Amino acid sequence: MPGTLYLVATPIGNLQDMTFRAVEVLRSVDVIACEDTRHTRKLLNAFEISTKLASYHEHNEEERADEFAKLLAEGKSVAVVSDAGTPGINDPGFRVVQKAIEIGADVVPIPGAVAFVNAVIASGLPTDSIYFGGFLPSKTGDRKKRFREVAAIPATLVFYETPHRIAAAIRDALTELGDRQAVAARELTKMHEEIIRGMLSELFERFASDQPRGEFVLVIDRAGSETSPSISISISDRIAQLEIEGVDHKTALKQVAKERGIGKSEAYRLLQSEKQ
Ligand code: SAM
Repeated sequence: MPGTLYLVATPIGNLQDMTFRAVEVLRSVDVIACEDTRHTRKLLNAFEISTKLASYHEHNEEERADEFAKLLAEGKSVAVVSDAGTPGINDPGFRVVQKAIEIGADVVPIPGAVAFVNAVIASGLPTDSIYFGGFLPSKTGDRKKRFREVAAIPATLVFYETPHRIAAAIRDALTELGDRQAVAARELTKMHEEIIRGMLSELFERFASDQPRGEFVLVIDRAGSETSPSISISISDRIAQLEIEGVDHKTALKQVAKERGIGKSEAYRLLQSEKQ
């Protein structure tokens, strides 16, 4: 009988978010696969866990996954943790899960902290439907393309971003999505936790003038949401607003369509009916 693969969530900053079940499982398995053994050893010490550690990170993920699958096939139990939060969520985990499934091992998630879920629930933006996009691309062109791809998704949009790129990411979101309600959730569960709410334009102003520190989740309202005031005005008024900002009429129409999650021709049709 193959052993069991446990995917164990650990805290994203506050040690008290470690669960009883996580401690119990990490004490009982044969080996714990982790990204940084020194980092995880500190966590284990805090909970008096002395299980053997094995490194499992981006660069050795493929070959390590084979080794863990071999252990599972021998009937051993393996737990995967990441440096913070839930393994497999923008952290290693996926490959070993695939291999475990291939050899018929049980895969058991041990739930706990995950940054994007906590950012969304505290954001005040709708939680009925959520699009999680992981890390935004680091280059402006790629990032803008990503925003264009998700512009019309009828869901609250959530991304991970680094502190040195958060201002640029918000700037690109503003250009591609139009001004929407947004939230930057910073240092969740830590001493300097902050949930900063505002329009994208307001968040941009704040971060452009003062390079922030810490870890960020960026949450953005969906197109056409009632919480984003830019859509509560008529299409012609919104176009006039953009024209005052120096945007030409054709581009303004395109942007309004994007903000409302509709096609350009539909925006044009609505504009014509507003005029009648
Ligand atoms: N596995 C993690 C999880 O479950 O959320 C995510 C790991 S990913 C490598 C790291 C990114 O997650 C950070 O750059 C940041 O965007 C986000 N993050 C992690 N911890 C956070 C925290 N305490 N507050 C805000 N964002 C956090």
